[in-house]
Amino acid sequence: EDYILVVKNLKKYYPIKKGLFSRTSGYVKAIDGVSFKIKRGTTMGLVGESGCGKTTVGKTILRLTDKTDGEVYFDGIPIFELDRKQLRKLRPRIQLIFQDPYSSLSPRLPVGEIIGEAVKDNNIVPKEEYEDYITKIMLDCGLQPYHKDRYPHEFSGGQRQRICIARAIALKPEFIVCDEPVSALDVSIQAQIINLLKDLQEKYKLTYLFISHDLSVVEHISDTVGVMYLGNLVEFADKETIFKNPLHPYTRALFSAIPIPDPDVKMKRIILEGSLPSPANPPSGCKFHTRCYECMEICKKVPPREIEVEKGHTVVCHLYDKEVVK
Ligand code: SF4
Repeated sequence: EDYILVVKNLKKYYPIKKGLFSRTSGYVKAIDGVSFKIKRGTTMGLVGESGCGKTTVGKTILRLTDKTDGEVYFDGIPIFELDRKQLRKLRPRIQLIFQDPYSSLSPRLPVGEIIGEAVKDNNIVPKEEYEDYITKIMLDCGLQPYHKDRYPHEFSGGQRQRICIARAIALKPEFIVCDEPVSALDVSIQAQIINLLKDLQEKYKLTYLFISHDLSVVEHISDTVGVMYLGNLVEFADKETIFKNPLHPYTRALFSAIPIPDPDVKMKRIILEGSLPSPANPPSGCKFHTRCYECMEICKKVPPREIEVEKGHTVVCHLYDKEVVK
């Protein structure tokens, strides 16, 4: 099958230093062995509470930060083995859209230039086609081309996110990491931006990694969904499967909080006790055991392994491991 992104056992540890002269006293394991694949032209949603490592996954696969271990392949290219020149050449093909569209837009540049700057730098289109190209991209993203000379502060939050999307799309990328792209926007605007991303995906055959804490947004846009907890991917499946049949106790708790429009379907709301432990000092065994309502003795000591419960549906939990005596 055609996977545009393959992530294998990715780890990202940050050293913790105590005091000015002391040596490293430990690590924050922001990503602790994460593996997944994304098929070309699809969207993978990555969900979990803030602090679970999902943003670090996005940054690391873009190579905006170094990895500690593991491999990332983009279109078969091992991105951590590229030198700076090769990486620069690859850059336009992989783009990023952030949560806060304002802070990532230069206030001193008119919108046309914001969208076009990197188009010129990377020679995306011949010079004589440049103006028409920017006009086309703006129209594709629901922006008025006659607004080219306006500045970011003259636009609403939703329009500013459209500008960020236009800037990314203009480089003809194949893969875009969308990190909470609608979280800062009003709910009514969120749907417009999600629909825009979907339209652009179809038009340009884009692949997305869509990072969000908002499950209803993820349900709307994703084909597959991964759930993260304290630096680990604890469950992965296609969207229909995971929303209908969440297996990991953490996924079940997360998903039980979504309001269900059908009154005949009653899903018990599961409230998790306690707060997210510090990734600098995660619990032993299964990292979720301090909050798990299904916790067994073994969970406190032995980390669970990944079990494929059905084709394409994996879960990291002792409950589904036939070799664990319950
Ligand atoms: Fe809960 Fe144990 Fe499964 Fe961890 S391994 S999620 S503690 S049942």
